[in-house]
Amino acid sequence: MMNLAADLNFENVFVQPINADWLEERNITLDVLRLDLIHPIISGNKYFKLKYYLKDAAEKNFHTIVTYGGAYSNHIIATAFACKQNGFKCIGIIRGEEPEQLSHTLRHAKELEMHLHFVNRIEYKNINNHKKKFDNAYFINEGGYGLEGVQGAAEIIKHVKNFDQYTIVFCAVGTGTTLAGIINASSLHQTIIGISVMKNNHSLEQQVSHILDANKQNKQFKIIHDYHFGGYAKYNKALLNFMNETWLQHNLPTDFVYTAKVFFGIKDMINQQQISNNSHILKIHTGGLQGNLSLLKGALQFS
Ligand SMILES: *Cc1c(COP(=O)(O)O)cnc(C)c1O
Repeated sequence: MMNLAADLNFENVFVQPINADWLEERNITLDVLRLDLIHPIISGNKYFKLKYYLKDAAEKNFHTIVTYGGAYSNHIIATAFACKQNGFKCIGIIRGEEPEQLSHTLRHAKELEMHLHFVNRIEYKNINNHKKKFDNAYFINEGGYGLEGVQGAAEIIKHVKNFDQYTIVFCAVGTGTTLAGIINASSLHQTIIGISVMKNNHSLEQQVSHILDANKQNKQFKIIHDYHFGGYAKYNKALLNFMNETWLQHNLPTDFVYTAKVFFGIKDMINQQQISNNSHILKIHTGGLQGNLSLLKGALQFS
């Protein structure tokens, strides 16, 4: 059994250059910030997003954290970890009936002593009810959405040497908290592109604007809605093939929910001439590889 509570290894993070004909032909460079290497289970962007919530909770003398997620949520497992590491009790409100067999994610969260509280989809949204029920607890939104989450996500770029050299930064978008942090931390010559992993979630643009710094509101960012592969956590044979190819050609592991769709999107947008020649691209690898455990064994040539 893996020691889930072992330390996070921020010193393992590095920037990996990608070499490929489809980049060279257009004189485009592509580097990947490997936040997935922080920990095999506690994924790349999640700890950044939690950091300032936990600080706030500690300063306000809370002892219990409550947060939200589904059965495969990377945010749930990361919160369980961060709470254990920082001495908080922790409750996960989980969307859906309690299954006979817990997912890998929920099993790991339980090992980290998160208390799982299963509710149906309607009850899940009734935050006022939960606040009454757990009235001494500090609440963190699903996915860490909110200003403290953005503040932490902005620190991701501290792990990139010479961040200013990049003209385009790509990352996956769930709640948009990570994207907002990167936008806040970037300069005017940089375009930040988020690849939405949900189908037609056009409220995202507003959701991101809502948590951006006031002086970044006009800043150039785009959310692309073309690479969801059918919707959240949906995938097909083509995506799995692409993930295996990416591993074999570039030694780059990706997850099927987020980072594979971003990498696919980058390649496709370059091939469709939607990215200008001579661009210097940074892709933030936001982690999430533990999600691949829910795929059939043998579907991927890496794990
Ligand atoms: C949670 C997650 C995201 C989404 O982050 P948001 O800040 O909610 O947009 C992206 N990639 C991975 C791997 C994740 O686990």
